[in-house]
Amino acid sequence: MIRLNQITKSYRGGTESVPVLHGLSFTLARGQFAAIMGPSGSGKSTLMNILGFMDVPDSGTYLLDGQDLSGADDEALSAVRNQKIGFVFQQFHLLPRLSARDQVLLPLLYADQEVADGEARAQRALEVVGLGHRASHAPEELSGGEQQRVAIARALILDPVLVLADEPTGNLDEANAAEVLNILRAIADQGRTVVMVTHDAAVATRADRILVLQAGRIASDSPPPVATATA
Ligand code: ADP
Repeated sequence: MIRLNQITKSYRGGTESVPVLHGLSFTLARGQFAAIMGPSGSGKSTLMNILGFMDVPDSGTYLLDGQDLSGADDEALSAVRNQKIGFVFQQFHLLPRLSARDQVLLPLLYADQEVADGEARAQRALEVVGLGHRASHAPEELSGGEQQRVAIARALILDPVLVLADEPTGNLDEANAAEVLNILRAIADQGRTVVMVTHDAAVATRADRILVLQAGRIASDSPPPVATATA
């Protein structure tokens, strides 16, 4: 699970310090799927960077899986990032020409750990996202939706406790977006925490909670609205 307490962050603009996050506090349990919404400039990326240990807050605490990493060095942070967090991006970030199986294997290579059954694990991760039959295909031979599912398999290969998805459906048509959301939903239901940034209110309804940021504060934190029947 993740627990944030009074997280603040400012950026230096010349001589001035511009506050971006004003003391964010929230907790997400294992198995919870949260959507982060809010206007451009409200601090969504800054928050995601902090959640992924790509950036550090100025003050406040962030516990991931019970662990407080404030003050940890870059090496420790990148180890935790690799082991505990899976990242999914709007642009998929797959390498050209590499097969789906090899894309999914990459985090194992970066983790520098002996994994005897890496290929089998990559194959299983691809099966979880419904692409077992596409393991030898390169990105250019896959649709956008399939590419995003390869990226999700890659994010899952090290069995992360937290999955961070930044506009994961932003480049997909409705059918492929629905499929990706089903997978993210299933990942949460298996007991991981999932945090997704989205601009799309319909996409956010698949989450358990919608946190709306406004000018660096949580303007609302609520379950998605219940769909109302139309006459
Ligand atoms: P969002 O993702 O919601 O659009 P961001 O977290 O990217 O919001 O940005 C929040 C605010 O912080 C914006 O005003 C942005 O200009 C500013 N900001 C973001 N990153 C930096 C940075 N590296 N240096 C200075 N200002 C930044």
